[in-house]
Amino acid sequence: MKSISDLDIAGRTVLLRSDFNVPLDKDGSGVITDDGRIVASLPTLRALTGAGAKVVIVAHLGRPKGVGFEESGSLAPVAKRLGELLGQDVALASDVTGDSARATVAALQPGQVALLQNIRFDARETSKDQAQRQELAAELASLADFYVSDGFGVVHRKQASVTDVAELLPNAGGLLVEKEVKSFSKVLAEPDRPYVVILGGSKVSDKLGVIDNLIDSVDRLLIGGGMAYTFLAANGHGVGTSLLEEDQIEAVKGYIAKAAEKGIELVIPVDTLVADAFPGKDNPTPQRKVVASDSIPDGWMGLDIGPETIELFKGKVADARTVVWNGPMGVFEVPEFATGTLEVAKAIAESDAFSVIGGGDSAAAVRQLGLEDGFSHISTGGGASLELLEGKTLPGLAVLEG
Ligand code: ADP
Ligand code: MG
Repeated sequence: MKSISDLDIAGRTVLLRSDFNVPLDKDGSGVITDDGRIVASLPTLRALTGAGAKVVIVAHLGRPKGVGFEESGSLAPVAKRLGELLGQDVALASDVTGDSARATVAALQPGQVALLQNIRFDARETSKDQAQRQELAAELASLADFYVSDGFGVVHRKQASVTDVAELLPNAGGLLVEKEVKSFSKVLAEPDRPYVVILGGSKVSDKLGVIDNLIDSVDRLLIGGGMAYTFLAANGHGVGTSLLEEDQIEAVKGYIAKAAEKGIELVIPVDTLVADAFPGKDNPTPQRKVVASDSIPDGWMGLDIGPETIELFKGKVADARTVVWNGPMGVFEVPEFATGTLEVAKAIAESDAFSVIGGGDSAAAVRQLGLEDGFSHISTGGGASLELLEGKTLPGLAVLEG
């Protein structure tokens, strides 16, 4: 992968793929509730404008239907926020590759930045038909001299603005993509030891691939969150109404056996915070209590790791030199069930380990808790980071020139 500094971009136009898929307030006001992804794009933007390039950004927001402009998918809030952060106006085209896009790009001066409308307003972006994608990619490529890939959150996708356009223009990885790739390469290829991987969240099946890929290199594997209950079930315990992926129990048994065989410490919760219902609008504070993990009562569901498990996990993290964390330890969105996630996040932040967070919700949890500074790298790509941890080749990275 080339770097921005390898491209001769002064006075030329650069098409930049960024990930601006930020959460918006559900009330439809267009207020951005977490601008982390926009902030993460700034180093690359400053490098490009500082080098005298004219920058055209292509990005997506939400899941529009792909039938043209939809107000709810407009990148207008992003253009505004980006302009505030950059300290310069960011022009927003009203279409993706049409008259407005061409006019907006033609008006750019060196050092200026413009944004095309939501690329997913155009159904060709995500088409399974390569010819469709290539057609859109050619329209995008005609707007610029170079392509820079910096939308790490989409590099695992085969899409017109991610893979197809890279085949048409001289290209490089942006600073964010470089930092992401470097951080994951370090934990995947040369972790300092002890090497601790902490997995949680809600989907066991998604994360078994990570275990499969990392089981040969980790020293300790800590399992919390919703996925822990499938591990408890695999050990023969009842889990009440907790999250359980029954069809994964056999696979989990296999990994438990493999960890034992390899002498890897596989640590599962010894206690758990259970509730008599999932907290919801009609029942915001269900009854809750701490129980031993092998004695979850019928009708109760585990929604966080318990206090003994928190201490156990903290001890496993304290002397770690490398930590990878994917998936919260409990239902952290509800304060009553956020303690496990908070305490584990604090322990990682306080350790001297090179620490990487992959996973959208885990990253959101750490930001919500204000602990960002304690981590070496917080990935901006949930799916992409998971696929890297699973050892997969990401098409948006593979396509970039060597
Ligand atoms: P990430 O995005 O970090 O990869 P996931 O998407 O796999 O994480 O999982 C995040 C979700 O898992 C959160 O919404 C959280 O509420 C949920 N979760 C965590 N623990 C539990 C649990 N014990 N029961 C149900 N859901 C849980
Ligand atoms: Mg998630």
